Amino acid sequence: MTTQAIETTEPIRGVGQAVPITIAHGDGIGPEIMAACLRVLDAAGARLAPETIEIGAQVYRQGVTAGIEPSAWDSLRRTKVFFKAPITTPRGGGYKSLNVTVRKSLGLFANVRPCAALSPFVETHYPNMDVVIVRENEEDLYAGIEHRQTDEVYQCLKLVSRPGTERIIRFAFEYARANDRRKVSCFVKDNIMKLTDGLFREVFAEVAADYPDIEHDHWIIDIGTARLAANPEQFDVIVTSNLYGDIISDVAAEISGSVGLGASANIGEHCAMFEAIHGSAPDIAGRGIANPSGLLLAGVQMLVHVGQAEIATRVHNAWLKTIEDGIHTADIHRADSSSARAGTDAFADAVIARLGQSPTKLTAVDYGSGTEPMAIPPATRRPAQDKQLVGIDVFVHQRDDSADALAARLQAASTDVPASLLMITNRGVKVWPNGMPETFETDHWRCRFEIDESHRDSSTVVALLGSLAANGIDFVKTEHLYEFDGEPAFSLGQGQ
Ligand code: NAD
Repeated sequence: MTTQAIETTEPIRGVGQAVPITIAHGDGIGPEIMAACLRVLDAAGARLAPETIEIGAQVYRQGVTAGIEPSAWDSLRRTKVFFKAPITTPRGGGYKSLNVTVRKSLGLFANVRPCAALSPFVETHYPNMDVVIVRENEEDLYAGIEHRQTDEVYQCLKLVSRPGTERIIRFAFEYARANDRRKVSCFVKDNIMKLTDGLFREVFAEVAADYPDIEHDHWIIDIGTARLAANPEQFDVIVTSNLYGDIISDVAAEISGSVGLGASANIGEHCAMFEAIHGSAPDIAGRGIANPSGLLLAGVQMLVHVGQAEIATRVHNAWLKTIEDGIHTADIHRADSSSARAGTDAFADAVIARLGQSPTKLTAVDYGSGTEPMAIPPATRRPAQDKQLVGIDVFVHQRDDSADALAARLQAASTDVPASLLMITNRGVKVWPNGMPETFETDHWRCRFEIDESHRDSSTVVALLGSLAANGIDFVKTEHLYEFDGEPAFSLGQGQ
């Protein structure tokens, strides 16, 4: 196992004194595993001064839709370090995901999930697996901007920024360098999403050139995930966008042994949050059998972050020794490889009893004596480019007309406007001109107009929309079509 040191540009360092941290006990198994972890950290000599905040079910029940009391932010801003047990997210609309809110509000742009095998002590098909997933945490489909636009069509906006992309990719390479990792792999779907995922791949290639000492490669997310599931040993550090990272990090954790072992660090320039990757496991809550390992390993990452690397090493090695000695919680217990089935508290006691010991078969970790903070170069802002309006996509809600009839109505409604209808697509597929009869058509039509060269400004857009509205066209959304420095900045219709 490789040492996983995570530092940011602004760590909080405890020089012999207790470091203030904010903790939340969470829901379900949260209070059980948090209590066990705090006992281990305390016994190991961690110098921490926890402040407790309320989050999760209890707060949601009080009608706070974000799941966190406004006053809790004061503690988080003051301590800048959040050690968080899992919570239960209520089902149904009206509630916001607390995790997403905390990550985005505190600018925790990088999610780091190490997934390493513990073979032969924890069953896995991949005994040499040692992968770290670095997931972008703030952008992509998790921007949470969704709309229903017609009777039949809903949309979710996928927002990807160049600075946000550059920052996460640089973080992945800096992480690789700081942790003696040899390779960074990029996973995206740029063959389909040529602008958004294409940007991610383009920036990856640019940033990789600054790290000639680290290998890099690129995978389309579908085949990359298949290879990760079938042959994870070929990967080292993987950097990817938010949704893909969410999915593949669970895949990676599961095939390394158990999701119950996975830890996650959410790192920002100012604050950091450490948690297990699993949820509140309501099915086993209150039974004292939950595995505290994911949260404990998150605690190890936190200790490194706050400058208590020696304690982190002590805890991690005692934990490895416990696993190696076959003392396992029910989720990873196997008759042939375990010597004892321990409950949450007994497992914590076993780790405490091994503080000061190191594993003899698994590789011991060494976080050093408080490594230098990992530098995160700020993302560069490029100069603005020449932006030229060339057209507009008008999205129309209608269910009665055919594509040909809709085109005729749009053309009739825009005769006095210096813009011409170029094409109509339905769910991205061209249906006019020359659509195919087999194409399924819903009630949501993207109607692309090109604006005449001498009238390329927003007054033409306003005139076009005014004319469409006057003619009873129900438009539900528009997207401007631009060229940046003469390059088209929009995708073509499928079949165009
Ligand atoms: P889960 O991760 O809570 O549980 C999935 C399965 O894994 C269950 O069978 C559970 O018993 C088992 N499991 C999980 N952690 C374990 C542990 N430490 N030891 C032993 N077994 C463990 O996922 P879920 O059931 O889909 O979600 C339950 C709740 O948790 C939901 O409300 C969900 O929204 C929430 N959730 C919270 C977080 C978080 O707070 N970070 C993350 C994921 C899910």
